[in-house]
Amino acid sequence: MTSPRLVHDKASLRAACDDARRAGKRVGLVPTMGALHAGHRSLMKHAAEQADFIVVTIFVNPLQFAPTDDLDRYPRTLDADLRACGEMGVHLVFAPEPGSMYPPGFQTEVRVTEVTRPLEGEHRPDHFDGVTTVVTKLFNLVGACKAVFGRKDYQQWRTLSRLAEDLDMPVEVIGRPIVREADGLALSSRNRYLSADERVRALGLCRGLRAADALWRDGERDIAVLERAARGPVDDAFDRVDYVAMVDPDTLEPPEGAPDRLMVLMAAHLGSTRLIDNFVLGQDEPL
Ligand code: AMP
Repeated sequence: MTSPRLVHDKASLRAACDDARRAGKRVGLVPTMGALHAGHRSLMKHAAEQADFIVVTIFVNPLQFAPTDDLDRYPRTLDADLRACGEMGVHLVFAPEPGSMYPPGFQTEVRVTEVTRPLEGEHRPDHFDGVTTVVTKLFNLVGACKAVFGRKDYQQWRTLSRLAEDLDMPVEVIGRPIVREADGLALSSRNRYLSADERVRALGLCRGLRAADALWRDGERDIAVLERAARGPVDDAFDRVDYVAMVDPDTLEPPEGAPDRLMVLMAAHLGSTRLIDNFVLGQDEPL
């Protein structure tokens, strides 16, 4: 295992990616907020299959957190993250300080208007503007690359695909499947906030997804029935439910006609921890 090179400044990131491309290498990018787990590692593995020079960014982006969110307590585990990146053959880790990403005078915002509106957009106003602004900066610094994201943050992945396409960025945005614990819970850096009792209750999300999937596989196509099945276990286990929604996986809007795929997206709170999950009926393997 070789340790990745760690850089904190934007100029070094840009120069390293330019050098790699000049040497004929394809650049792969995995943007993260750190506290890396097997979900992140699956993205690095895919990047390494698609590209030759792998960059992981670790930045807890203050622009995408609301004042009431968990910015201050978000886990920061740089040493362990560097070890994980080394194990996955990552070449460069970019871990900037907030002051270098947003120096005094910073005032530009990048917004994707439509796909950001429902779901997370309704419950976390300004969140996606923070995401698209920081990812635009990362894409500009890294340059032409394949950028790998997780479909756990499904709406974010759709938003960033739109961003790269709409702004003619030389970036291929790739979305990869959700990595789960053996019992079905989607891996998340926020899972470490959960108490033992909350960790058990968190399974309400995948129980809801499984219930909808079982009905779908039995031929049920009534969206209200499927939604009730998905929502029940979440309502039972969680303290507060932001949404359990059935949408078209391409538009994130309510489906039209009789769809052959239907997406279930959910977000709910256990104490002060907010978890999200999703599943595409008619597409994803059973949980
Ligand atoms: P985060 O560090 O939470 O901002 O996530 C960084 C990237 O990892 C995003 O593209 C996430 O969608 C992805 N990711 C997070 N959790 C998982 C997971 N359980 N499976 C696959 N990808 C994930």
